[in-house]
Amino acid sequence: PRAVAVDDKAEVEEYFNNEGFNRWSRIYSDDGEVNTVQLDIREGHAQTVDKVLGWVDADGSAKRGETFADAGCGVGSLSLPLAQRGAKVTASDISAAMVEEAAKRATKAGLSDRASFSTSDLENIEGKYDTVTCIDVMIHYPQDKMAQMVQGLAQKADKRLIISFAPDTWYYRALKSFGELFPGPSKTTRAYLHSEEAVVDALNAAGFELARTEMTGTKFYFSRLLEAKKRA
Ligand code: SAM
Repeated sequence: PRAVAVDDKAEVEEYFNNEGFNRWSRIYSDDGEVNTVQLDIREGHAQTVDKVLGWVDADGSAKRGETFADAGCGVGSLSLPLAQRGAKVTASDISAAMVEEAAKRATKAGLSDRASFSTSDLENIEGKYDTVTCIDVMIHYPQDKMAQMVQGLAQKADKRLIISFAPDTWYYRALKSFGELFPGPSKTTRAYLHSEEAVVDALNAAGFELARTEMTGTKFYFSRLLEAKKRA
């Protein structure tokens, strides 16, 4: 238990508008200087994105022009390829700096008509979408917040949720305690691992059923990916 209440959201917003923006906008690029750890994270994250796109390509949902809300979109690493495929993407992020960069990349790629970007925390997303995606965001929040967020995102999803998180397994817990997980220079955020059971329970409680799973693990990047479909 903590002695003092921690405002994860305020810290995360501040981080991703400053050092976090510099670090992550570089990691989430094809070029630009990164160290070997960051390169490993870049490659791991790209694999997660590719797995989501693989699902979406297989079911044709983006190509059909379905609607997607990308919650915590970062610099648009998933939003842009979804829009590229024909999806109508409404992307948002708590960090204005990340959103600005995402919008810039969308304009450059000629995708501004199919993807819109706004600064918003995921609790305040408006509207309903065929699919709601939330990739590598839950790592910033403890379990009770994660469950609330899943519940909130589920209310915005007509058909399915695609969510990823850093899995709480003995192995990753050990790595984290050795400080090898999410390493790098001093300034970073807290990292919360989540048990798959807790995430699946939250999905079930919100009326969603697990449909597909994937796992990506490189040296420094770990992400469990879940697709859940709304119960009929
Ligand atoms: N989903 C993107 C991707 O996979 O490329 C970005 C992942 S990055 C590790 C986490 C992102 O979540 C950051 O851009 C951060 O600003 C955003 N974020 C954190 N908490 C959020 C919240 N409560 N609402 C919306 N976005 C949030």
